[in-house]
Amino acid sequence: MREFYLYNTINRKREIFEPVTPGLAGIYVCGPTVYGDAHLGHARPGVTYDVLVRLLRKIGYKVRYVRNITDVGHLENDSDSGEDKIAQKARLEQLEPMEVVQHYTLRYHEAMKLLNTLPPDIEPRASGHIIEQISLVNQILDKGFAYESNGSVYFDVEEYNRKHNYGALSGRSLDDMQSNTRTLDGQSDKRSPFDFALWKKAAPEHIMRWPSPWSDGFPGWHVECSAMSSKYLGETFDIHGGGMDLLFPHHECELAQNTAARGKSGVRYWMHNNMITINGQKMGKSLGNFITLEELFTGNHKILVQAYSPMTIRFFILQAHYRSTLDFSNEALQAAEKGLKRLVQAGNDASKLKSAQNGTAIEGLAELKESVYTALCDDLNTPIAIANLFEAVRIVNTIKEKQTVIREEDKSILRELFEEISVGILGLTDEQAASGTGETLRGVVEMILDVRREAKASKDFATSDKIRERLTALGIQIKDTKEGTEWNLN
Ligand code: ZN
Repeated sequence: MREFYLYNTINRKREIFEPVTPGLAGIYVCGPTVYGDAHLGHARPGVTYDVLVRLLRKIGYKVRYVRNITDVGHLENDSDSGEDKIAQKARLEQLEPMEVVQHYTLRYHEAMKLLNTLPPDIEPRASGHIIEQISLVNQILDKGFAYESNGSVYFDVEEYNRKHNYGALSGRSLDDMQSNTRTLDGQSDKRSPFDFALWKKAAPEHIMRWPSPWSDGFPGWHVECSAMSSKYLGETFDIHGGGMDLLFPHHECELAQNTAARGKSGVRYWMHNNMITINGQKMGKSLGNFITLEELFTGNHKILVQAYSPMTIRFFILQAHYRSTLDFSNEALQAAEKGLKRLVQAGNDASKLKSAQNGTAIEGLAELKESVYTALCDDLNTPIAIANLFEAVRIVNTIKEKQTVIREEDKSILRELFEEISVGILGLTDEQAASGTGETLRGVVEMILDVRREAKASKDFATSDKIRERLTALGIQIKDTKEGTEWNLN
């Protein structure tokens, strides 16, 4: 098995990956809170953790990939007050909260499928794990790191920080946080502004509520991930992923809950993908640059000059390292669209190259393949891997141009580079060939080109030229070669 290195947020170091159980990788990723359409912010973790899972499987691990659905307890502004995001949407749309959840979960699944991400092996919902969450809150209370107040239960951050280190993951210190924060206004049930809810007593109008030892209420947002990750992956598991925006408070609180209840953090490697900006700005509804994935795929948004296909978005995301910020702009996406097309075209061409036992050897091809794996196994360095794949694109184009007959073994390395790595690990498929429309289109163009061949054979050049002009007008470029006519859709 190849060695895999991963940057661990908690140590701020690149570490060799050593799972709890050899050969088995347990991965937990914080999934969406399903109260709105999947947007650009969902695409990056979706694609990043998908490549992680595909790569680990390819290098020989059995992977258990768990990604949750948050359907209760995530309050406005990620805080401990305000309305539940899903309940609020349900009230505004006059729907049942679970109708909102079902609607947006299906929409999220569709968007993730279009981005060619594999579904998680387990996709637990917070509302389906209330018993596990109550049990975790009880454990934290028993250990003395939480207190009950008016039917709600809060995590006692100061008490925890006396014995452990609150801020270990995000690199913050409680002292610094305390000196920068206003005191409580006296209205709160909390003892300190840093304490966070483990259980909230439901207000009378609150629909989503369950009985508990403390009140009819609902779990705090951070509790679900501590409860569900340990249920499906064990009390210590390998990789916990999510966006950088979840680092604090969400993951910091998860870590504190795990340590408070069980005396250990429960996670070996914390992995965080960086954020996406749009034309240099943070994406936000108030800035008018909030883009859903559907708007990107259809081009239906005022800041977009065209539609961008799911594969273009996927390729664009992978052109940057997951720990770097990534800026979306029309220019950058158009460049990505062109780059992806070259890569896919070279993959199709590579499969058609002529090879023979005693064919010409291609210098450096085996090393090139090795360097792609080395990059991917080095903390998922997809930009370097893609740069190396483009070296393979250049090689394929030269072989094609010179019509070289290559060695069988080189052809099989090219197959691995394009089919197993580019398609299999990076998930970059040929969208045109994959879609039914693509197949039909291919058939129709081939048929028209047959008619044109016949016209040329009978010296009917007027018809032959007319067909070429009409196809060109439709964006279909044709090129006559010795072997026949090649065509390309622009
Ligand atoms: Zn989470």
